[in-house]
Amino acid sequence: MAYAARGSQVPFTSINLEFTVPKFLEDVPAYGPKGKLAGVYGDYEEETRILQRAFTETLLDGDSDGKPHLFPNTIYALRDKVLTDEFEEDVRRVHELSAKYGSSYFVNMFPSYRGDMANYMGCRTSLNDNWTGDWEQDCFRTGNLAYVTLNLPRIAYNSRDDNDVFDYLDSYMHLAEEVLMLRREQAMNCLDNYNLLPFLTQEAEGERYYRVNNATLSFGFVGLNEMLMAHCGEGIEDPDARKFGLKVIKYMNKRADELKEETGLRWSVLQTPAESTAYRFGMLDKEKYGDKAILQGDDVASYYTNSSHVPVNSDVLLPEKIKIEEKFHPLTLGGHIFHAFMGEAYSDPDSLMSLTNKIAKNSDIGFWAYSSALSFCIKCKTLMKGLQTQCGTCGEETEVEWYDRITGYVQQVGRSRSASGGWNPGKMRELMDRKRF
Ligand SMILES: [Zn+2]
Repeated sequence: MAYAARGSQVPFTSINLEFTVPKFLEDVPAYGPKGKLAGVYGDYEEETRILQRAFTETLLDGDSDGKPHLFPNTIYALRDKVLTDEFEEDVRRVHELSAKYGSSYFVNMFPSYRGDMANYMGCRTSLNDNWTGDWEQDCFRTGNLAYVTLNLPRIAYNSRDDNDVFDYLDSYMHLAEEVLMLRREQAMNCLDNYNLLPFLTQEAEGERYYRVNNATLSFGFVGLNEMLMAHCGEGIEDPDARKFGLKVIKYMNKRADELKEETGLRWSVLQTPAESTAYRFGMLDKEKYGDKAILQGDDVASYYTNSSHVPVNSDVLLPEKIKIEEKFHPLTLGGHIFHAFMGEAYSDPDSLMSLTNKIAKNSDIGFWAYSSALSFCIKCKTLMKGLQTQCGTCGEETEVEWYDRITGYVQQVGRSRSASGGWNPGKMRELMDRKRF
């Protein structure tokens, strides 16, 4: 299945691929051309495998210059059936892709909080079969309608004690709720009154194609780490501070659940991608709170740590980072991501595969990617590992473009002179701060 968002740029598309027909679909009727019944999904095991392989092989080839294909974001579902000897070759090929371009993503279907299906977009937002319980209603022909991001560090700057924190959370969430309801009202106007989205309003199987009542309204957040530093004196790596952090995110979930009861709408909590918000909130708070503000980055570009992530420059090792961040994944089912920023040397598919097995089987991490920075010489078309300031082949310095994962997806950084766009100063600073494994 594919998802799309955004206008006026290369279409932001994502595709979720299965290695095999999932168990819950095996006996479900499948429909062929002209809507004719064509057996069950289980009859198409071989086709499922061929499609996945062909897609992965094409991505591995890169584009005509040897650069990675940036879209669609390609997301692979890992289920118990998949991480076995039978699929080893297929799974290995995907890890070759991870090692070469860092562009593949993984959805973990092992954790106990999962049902049968979870669909993700490359930016990390997600739909699970946890709303009506029917995977088709919950994950298809619907989407993430809107989200609003809470500035958690600012709550901490204004709070004297724990009670203050939760009072501010109440008022921030109330404000966010009002904004989200306005956004929904406007979306309904576009669908019902202005006929701006005829594709979505066409009829399918006796109902409107887009199931707006199953679309999510979400509360996102930025800077849990800095909130904890300001309120508890320690960041998210500290067990006691983290305990308080979990309390905060659980509280947000509780309010989202209450709203489901009150409004009948699909409220959720997510780790905001915060591509520009982490920077914007940081700069606003620096101006408003001066030295009191706890910020990442430097004087020129300050930013907050993304959602409930460990700061990008932290010294914690990868297994420890997993242990810290996995606690928040069951609490952010509207979307989450774990980043493993890999160093230049880490390009061995087999080691990545063994890491994948550990993450999938032994952690609650729901969605992750191995990202490695790439450099590309526009002049002589050489692809290099790491952030290089000079081409190793022809010596070019200015027309060397960088690539890395910005918040969810891999994007060009905008270093070269001929680049058409690029990362904002906060994200650029964060890129430099990233500690790689
Ligand atoms: Zn070159």
